[in-house]
Amino acid sequence: MKNIVIFGAPGAGKGTQSDCIVEHFGLTHVSTGDLLRKEIADQTELGKRIKSIMDAGQLVSDDIVVEMIDKAIANDTKGMLFDGFPRTVAQAETLDKLLAKHGRELTCMVQLEVPKDELMHRLLERAKIQGRADDNEATINNRLQEYNNKTKPVADYYAKQGKQVVIDGLGKIEDISKRILDQLEKR
Ligand code: AMP
Repeated sequence: MKNIVIFGAPGAGKGTQSDCIVEHFGLTHVSTGDLLRKEIADQTELGKRIKSIMDAGQLVSDDIVVEMIDKAIANDTKGMLFDGFPRTVAQAETLDKLLAKHGRELTCMVQLEVPKDELMHRLLERAKIQGRADDNEATINNRLQEYNNKTKPVADYYAKQGKQVVIDGLGKIEDISKRILDQLEKR
């Protein structure tokens, strides 16, 4: 059973490539961003608490996302693709523990590499199409800063475990998918 993390800066293509990985290996897709946006759309207590944090492009607290991931693992039987999680080294350590608790192990982490100019371009384009509240220039800058400060060290965490698979995230969507699937078939 495969348990995979898809990793990269905002705009690197995690969501797009997740669809193809999930379909190919029959995995359960867990996107913490999607789960959090649903809480806001449903106007739950949690949604009200996190809205201003997400609108500002900051990370919500580890406890909130860890609880969501714990539940998702407990409910899954197929193997999982984690999208947007872990975003801090503390979350990565917790993920290892949660998987072990359920008798599982992380297969690997797929890291999509895209230069900063291209990330900004893609996020501004997405803003026009999807109208996500956090896809505007000021918030995008904050999200990229959060990524550089808190999330990038997660790559080293997996590199040290020999679980980091770096993929060139530039080019046609199908070509990037093929690069990813070729690597994942070997794991
Ligand atoms: P995403 O859809 O993955 O780009 O996430 C959108 C926003 O949700 C982020 O800017 C954060 O505010 C929040 N978020 C998503 N995943 C996490 C996480 N693992 N830890 C903390 N905040 C998160």
